[in-house]
Amino acid sequence: MSPLAGIALFLLTVLGMEGFAYAAHRWVMHGPGWFLHASHHRPRTGPFEWNDLYAAIFAVPSIALLYMGVQLQWWPGFTWIGAGIAAYGAIYFGFHDVIVHRRIPHRYVPRSRYMKRIVQAHRLHHAVETKHGTVSFGFLWAPPPQVLKARLRAGAADSGRRTDDL
Ligand SMILES: [Zn+2]
Ligand SMILES: [Zn+2]
Repeated sequence: MSPLAGIALFLLTVLGMEGFAYAAHRWVMHGPGWFLHASHHRPRTGPFEWNDLYAAIFAVPSIALLYMGVQLQWWPGFTWIGAGIAAYGAIYFGFHDVIVHRRIPHRYVPRSRYMKRIVQAHRLHHAVETKHGTVSFGFLWAPPPQVLKARLRAGAADSGRRTDDL
């Protein structure tokens, strides 16, 4: 495999992971996997939360692919895909856990339109602490805040929730 094809595969994997993460968050974590993810929608009491297990679970395919590509040398594509999954994990950790949730103290303030938008979108995801009725399940791509707020209000009107703080 040429280096260019490898890099293309790597970038496609990073992009594809955003779609995968969206689906997993919406239909697994806010579905049958809520028993672990619920900890992320409540204030954290220690350095870790049950939801962190998802990071370990999502690392398994990446480790397996890197092993097959690097150690067993089955197909170089496995290495690029495994590295793409790992890179998405690192990006997600940086944006989600460090920048938004401040699990590592920092003074960074989002200034660019893009950064403000994805940070606000994720804060709106956390406006709801329950399994159902929330918005914005992706991370690196987010709809405009007005769209998300309108959806939150519509969902709240259906369930009788208050939306004074939106
Ligand atoms: Zn969630
Ligand atoms: Zn979060």
